[in-house]
Amino acid sequence: MSEFELINKYFDWGAGIGDDCALIDVGIHQQFVTTVDTLIEGVHFPVDTSPVDIAYKALAVNLSDLAAMGATPNYFTLALTLPNIDEQWLEDFSSSLKALATEYNIKLIGGDTTKGMLSITINATGTIQGVALMRSGAKVGDGIFVSNTLGDAALAWQQIQNQKIPSRNLLTQFNHPEPQVKLGQVLLGVASSCIDISDGLEQDLSHILSHSKVGASIDLDALPLSNEVAQYIANTGDWCVALAGGDDYELCFTVPESQLDTIQSIEKKLGVVLTKIGVIVESGLEIKGLDKTCQSYQHF
Ligand code: ADP
Ligand code: MG
Repeated sequence: MSEFELINKYFDWGAGIGDDCALIDVGIHQQFVTTVDTLIEGVHFPVDTSPVDIAYKALAVNLSDLAAMGATPNYFTLALTLPNIDEQWLEDFSSSLKALATEYNIKLIGGDTTKGMLSITINATGTIQGVALMRSGAKVGDGIFVSNTLGDAALAWQQIQNQKIPSRNLLTQFNHPEPQVKLGQVLLGVASSCIDISDGLEQDLSHILSHSKVGASIDLDALPLSNEVAQYIANTGDWCVALAGGDDYELCFTVPESQLDTIQSIEKKLGVVLTKIGVIVESGLEIKGLDKTCQSYQHF
C-alpha cells in the first residue's frame, strides 16, 4: 500500500483533506488555513545536520504549504522530540527558527516537548484574503508554470549520499529552500490551481491533475534548471532528478490564457523566474521527450 492509498483508505473521512493546507471558512471573504509537517532525522535530513539548518527547514516546509494556498502566515506550534538536552544545539535551533519566523511574521504560540528520536513537527496557520489557490481549479488550455529551478535539492542529497560535497548553490537549495510565500499571495485571483513541489514535479503536478480532473502535456526541454542540474542531466541523461527528486519547495501553478500577461509583471515585481513548462489537456500526463518513468518520493 502506498502513502497516498493509506491516507485515502483510513483518514479521508469526507471533511475535505487533500490540499496543501486545510481550509476553514471564518467569515465572508476570509479563510483560515492550517498545515502540519514532520521532519525526522535520517529521513528528511541527514544525521548530523546542523540545528540551524534543521530549524530552518522545519518551518520553511510549512511556509511552503501556506504559500501554495496563497496564504499569509500568522501562527505556528512546535512539537519537538529530542534524544537529550544539548544547550548549544537548542540555542542554535531556537535562534534559527526565530530568525525565519520573524522574516515571515509568523508567531510561535505553543507546542510539545518530548524525549525520543530527533523529530520536529510544526503546525502552521495562515489567512487568505480572497479565494484560496487550490489543487482543483486547472482547466484545459491553462498554461503550467513553475517558479525558479527544479532538482537542485535532490542533486545535493544524491551527492551527500555519495560522499561528495555539493556546490554552495545546491546546498542552499537543499538546506535553505526559500518558501514562495509572496508569490503565492500575488497568484491569488491569477492562477487557477497551485501546489508546492515538495515530492517532485511529476507527482505533485499529478495531484493537480487528479483534483482538477484534467491532464497535462509537459515539455522536457522547457524545465528550468540550474547550471549544475543541467550539467548533471547532460552527463547522465537522468531527468528524474528534476522531475521526481523532491524537496524543491517551488510552486507549480496553472494560469488561464487571459492572465498570462500578469505573469510577466509578477516576475519583474518579485524577482522570481516563472517558466511555462506545458499546458493542461483533457487527460493523461505526457512528458514530451521522456522515455522512462521516474519514481517520486513516497514514505511507503
Ligand atoms: P504535503 O506534501 O502538501 O504536505 P502530503 O502529501 O503530506 O501533503 O499529504 C497529502 C494530503 O493528505 C494533505 O491534504 C494532508 O493534509 C493529508 N494527510 C496526510 N496524512 C494524513 C493523515 N494521517 N490524516 C489525515 N490527512 C492526512
Ligand atoms: Mg504541499
